[in-house]
Amino acid sequence: MLNTNPKFIYFDLDDTLLNHKKAEENGLKDVHSYFEELHEVPSEQLINTYHHINKGLWEEYGRGEIDRHILHRRRFEETFIELGIRGELYSEAGKVYMSYYRTHWEWVEGAKEAFDVIRSNYNVGIITNGFAETQWMKIDQFGFRDMVSQIVISEEVGVMKPHSKIFDYSTDCVGCDRSEILYVGDSFASDVKGGKAAGWKVAWFTSSPTKEGEELADLVFDDWRLLLKMLGII
Ligand SMILES: [Mg+2]
Repeated sequence: MLNTNPKFIYFDLDDTLLNHKKAEENGLKDVHSYFEELHEVPSEQLINTYHHINKGLWEEYGRGEIDRHILHRRRFEETFIELGIRGELYSEAGKVYMSYYRTHWEWVEGAKEAFDVIRSNYNVGIITNGFAETQWMKIDQFGFRDMVSQIVISEEVGVMKPHSKIFDYSTDCVGCDRSEILYVGDSFASDVKGGKAAGWKVAWFTSSPTKEGEELADLVFDDWRLLLKMLGII
């Protein structure tokens, strides 16, 4: 059993409950097929270049150096320029990507079944780093509004995880002691470090844990049944 009896359980959304990585990769493959200009470049190269550039831009965004409009523009503009393709296609690429990305959203394997069991036994909520417009679309598509009592989106709070403000805000929303909140997430930097710094318990969903993460997290799991077992519901 987890060394805690949580009164509230928050979940991360992307790559914890929903498979963002796979949807992103499939969305980029659709962008690759859509633009003739990209056909000379292997789709893996587009995906790798985009990941690299997008990661750097999210870090800049997280530090408050750029806003979401600049992030949205530069992630395709810089990817295309690096691949030797006309950068001015960025605007169309952004729209094409988003329209396809949405069609690829699906649950992480095993997450839906576990989440349904957990939400029938515990009070639950979601905290997600991301843009409100996109995250609300996901939340509505999967019906999360009816499944959880709290939804916290970084863009609406003004800071991203692991910033203490988003964890403090989420703590205030549920009104229990910090040690009575459990956070379930896949990111070491955002979820494990952020949650522990806030005084919460953390269950780290990962198949490749680091030693540092294993020491810090209260539970490390890559099989949802293990979380259910540790919560004492199976
Ligand atoms: Mg995540």
